[in-house]
Amino acid sequence: MTTLFWFRNDLRVDDNPALLRALALSHDSEVLPVYCLPPASTAVLPVTSDGAHGTPLQLSRRGAHRHRFLCEALTDLQQQLQQRGSHLIVRHEAPAEALATLARAVNARRIVTSWQPGTEEARELTCVQHALPDMPVEVIENDGLFRRDQLPFSPEQLPATFTAFRKKVEAHARSDAPQRAPDTLPGVAHAAIKLDQGIPATPPADSHHIDTPLRYTGGESAGRQRLQHYLWDSQALRHYKATRNGLLGADYSSKFSPWLAHGCLSPRRIVAEVTRFETDIEKNDSTYWLVFELLWREYFRWLSVFAGPRLFRFQGLRPQPVPMPVFSPARFAAWCQGNTGMPFVDANMRELNATGFMSNRGRQNVASFLIHDLGQDWRLGAAWFEQQLLDYDVASNWGNWAYIAGAGSDPRQGRWFNVLAQALRYDPQAAYVSHWLPVLAELPAAQRHVPFTSATPCAGQAYPPLIIPIPEGWRDTLPARTGRPRH
Ligand SMILES: Cc1cc2nc3c(=O)[nH]c(=O)nc-3n(C[C@H](O)[C@H](O)[C@H](O)COP(=O)(O)OP(=O)(O)OC[C@H]3O[C@@H](n4cnc5c(N)ncnc54)[C@H](O)[C@@H]3O)c2cc1C
Repeated sequence: MTTLFWFRNDLRVDDNPALLRALALSHDSEVLPVYCLPPASTAVLPVTSDGAHGTPLQLSRRGAHRHRFLCEALTDLQQQLQQRGSHLIVRHEAPAEALATLARAVNARRIVTSWQPGTEEARELTCVQHALPDMPVEVIENDGLFRRDQLPFSPEQLPATFTAFRKKVEAHARSDAPQRAPDTLPGVAHAAIKLDQGIPATPPADSHHIDTPLRYTGGESAGRQRLQHYLWDSQALRHYKATRNGLLGADYSSKFSPWLAHGCLSPRRIVAEVTRFETDIEKNDSTYWLVFELLWREYFRWLSVFAGPRLFRFQGLRPQPVPMPVFSPARFAAWCQGNTGMPFVDANMRELNATGFMSNRGRQNVASFLIHDLGQDWRLGAAWFEQQLLDYDVASNWGNWAYIAGAGSDPRQGRWFNVLAQALRYDPQAAYVSHWLPVLAELPAAQRHVPFTSATPCAGQAYPPLIIPIPEGWRDTLPARTGRPRH
């Protein structure tokens, strides 16, 4: 009696309770691992122009960086499974079609899969259930720190703020210990292997012009190597709390997020390793803080359950509808391409577009700039991030964007960051902006964050002027004796 094991964002064999459940259910009979890779879909965003609905904006939802990472993760998963005697079947179609085809071909009796946050992910599951109405589908909570029944509240009563959430789970919730990968897996019949459509070949990341200190290679093996490096080999974890707001380099933060987002690393494995580090090496504020940050990830996972479709509305969780801003194609395009004339924003956006990664400090600033300074719909930024990020995660991405827009839980007026003050504080030598915008190196160091205050065109006009008037909130931050602003 064959069990279909449908991999989703849980691309690992280590600490994968759903996979272990499939094995337990099927005893010695066949477990057929499947991954569904339909072509990337397109996000259609309604935008307003002059108060009316304009032509919807269309953005591909999976850009080249994440596509490469995903294919590498699948290749690594295939190796993990084959080493254990199994084989991953990859189908280039939506899960409902893929699983129906396979279920018929191998006479499957049940499906086991993992729970994923997000409304589309829920709909995907519903479609599978409709396509196979007589097939039991067992859904296992696989990829969070806590299962629903381990929380000290129901998701419908999620505390309104992260701090209240954190205090409750720190006091009352215990997550499971990670479980080892199975040593062996049941074999897969030749007839099933014939249905494997294969993992698309992807070009290697272009490393010629990307001066990135870390190559993000998809897959469980690379994820475990990163864990080994960050905790044990470099012991960078010891200083995480002091370095985590960094912008340049491989080790200012853990960089676990791309592997977490694809399920190549289990958050419970990370916490268990941090605990071992605390016992064997050192327990300090930094070791606590890494787990603290993982609680933010956890919070957004449960917020996505609490919010449901409201997470994707402009209004978000705000009780009253709010007027939508007028869409400016020029402002949005300048933001996406890193051409706003604000170096700190542009450097971050160029890093994102070139590598698929951006620091947390950078994300907060570019998000605030798009929403509060350029006056654009926060969901446009979330959609651009969805396309570009290696670590795109539906709950963390939309939750963080909504939070900065003031449309999330704990809605205040929104979180406006003084991007200029942040640039001067977190990039005092202008090393980061000069790295991603080398043209600024022609300017005196003191000018590199504020080329828009110079009376003469910046860097031979190779760098654009500021796309908006200097925000009022920057006035007190502007260095003294700057010249006439260029707009
Ligand atoms: C506008 C915006 C969009 C974001 N979109 C995503 C996204 O799509 N996917 C994603 O994984 N993170 C997202 N984040 C959160 C955060 O920026 C990244 O998780 C972090 O920068 C990843 O780098 P790291 O692994 O080195 O993090 P570290 O600082 O080393 O933190 C360790 C882990 O904690 C979790 N974490 C840390 N900060 C946050 C946070 N604010 N929210 C949720 N989890 C957090 C991540 O899993 C991270 O890997 C977003 C933040 C903002 C402000």
